[in-house]
Amino acid sequence: MLCFRLPRFYRCTWESPVNIHEYQAKELLAKFGVPVPAGYAAMSVEEAVEVSKKLPGPLYVVKAQIHAGGRGKGKFKELPEGSKGGVRLARTEDEVRHAATEMLGNTLVTIQTGEAGKQVNRLYVTDGVDIAKEFYLAVLVNRASGRISFVASTEGGMDIETVAHDTPEKIHSIDVDPATGFQPHHGRAVAGALQLNGDLAKQAANVAAKLYDAFLGTDAEQIEINPLAVTDDGKLMVLDAKVGFDGNAMFRHKDLAELRDETEEDAAELEASKYDLAYIKLDGDIGCMVNGAGLAMATMDIIKLNGMFPANFLDVGGGASKEKVTAAFKIILADPAVKGILVNIFGGIMKCDIIAEGIVAAAKEVNLSVPLVVRLEGTNVDKGKEILSTSGLAIVPANDLGDAAQKIVAEVKKVA
Ligand code: GDP
Ligand code: MG
Repeated sequence: MLCFRLPRFYRCTWESPVNIHEYQAKELLAKFGVPVPAGYAAMSVEEAVEVSKKLPGPLYVVKAQIHAGGRGKGKFKELPEGSKGGVRLARTEDEVRHAATEMLGNTLVTIQTGEAGKQVNRLYVTDGVDIAKEFYLAVLVNRASGRISFVASTEGGMDIETVAHDTPEKIHSIDVDPATGFQPHHGRAVAGALQLNGDLAKQAANVAAKLYDAFLGTDAEQIEINPLAVTDDGKLMVLDAKVGFDGNAMFRHKDLAELRDETEEDAAELEASKYDLAYIKLDGDIGCMVNGAGLAMATMDIIKLNGMFPANFLDVGGGASKEKVTAAFKIILADPAVKGILVNIFGGIMKCDIIAEGIVAAAKEVNLSVPLVVRLEGTNVDKGKEILSTSGLAIVPANDLGDAAQKIVAEVKKVA
């Protein structure tokens, strides 16, 4: 019953992380004293050229701003094979203009975007630095230790997943005890993991301390610096930053919430958040609509137990209205992978007849084209079942959770 008594607390646990662009991340980190090269965002080719004039030169970096990494090695769909990716070095105004022209409006495909890629609508023009060595440094919530951790590696610049897979011994994890917070020894441990000595070790410890401040100060979920570079003149600089905040904490960071770029977010998840639906897209083909996060997870488990996979997690919440149920149906059906829908509702605060009316209205409105199994239980369940059975719709009723999962799997296999 805890979830009913503390609806806010309960709901809060389901906000997705909020990611921001590299230029926003670097501006934010700079405010915490983290060393980043000077740079300016640009929304047009002309603006990119103009802002480059404010930088000292002679080297500039023109960078595509999308919420995905791997831009340097990425490919633009519209450009011929062999063209450069989403991070370009430029030495003249013409080269800045050329890079900006090739990137803006085009679709960048990287290892993290999937095949569809992402359209580049913003650029970041930064002061280019001469790199002597590239490192990896991240701050994140280590779920295994339950602590904030630094993850450090001398193998920066490249794909850290490959390093983790092929040479895991080159990745070091340093936990911070929340009771002590960040201490000088954590800074020394980070510097040691990066195999730095002397002044560079001091710089690394300083960067680690500032990143920790930024992490706590913004309620971040992750701050990933790749590369953290040593420049030719012996300075540590953050050349790339990926920052994600805990979505549940956004209510106390209005300024950070404004950095959201909705064009970068999953369209279905964005639509769901407008209706206060907790929706997360998954890879399977059974769409689920459930009330309560625990029941939603149990429903996903039992679908798996019956040999298929859920297409989504969707918690319509305790006070599911007809509008919410309709919106939920539309979001589930907009996913082309969905071959059947399982509705599993426990009518506690919500009465089953109200839910049933919502389901019938929604199914009619969206022109339901896939099998639908509904399991209702709780207050006014008989009334609810009657509404479903007399609706004229091909709704398959189920008696309990196991029955529901078996039925939806059987229905989907019948169609296939
Ligand atoms: P990502 O490919 O999306 O991770 O984008 P990054 O910002 O990490 O850039 C990719 C690579 O471009 C880096 O690993 C660097 O090797 C290179 N790069 C980025 N900024 C600079 C710079 O200022 N100077 C030089 N020489 N190379 C840079
Ligand atoms: Mg990078």
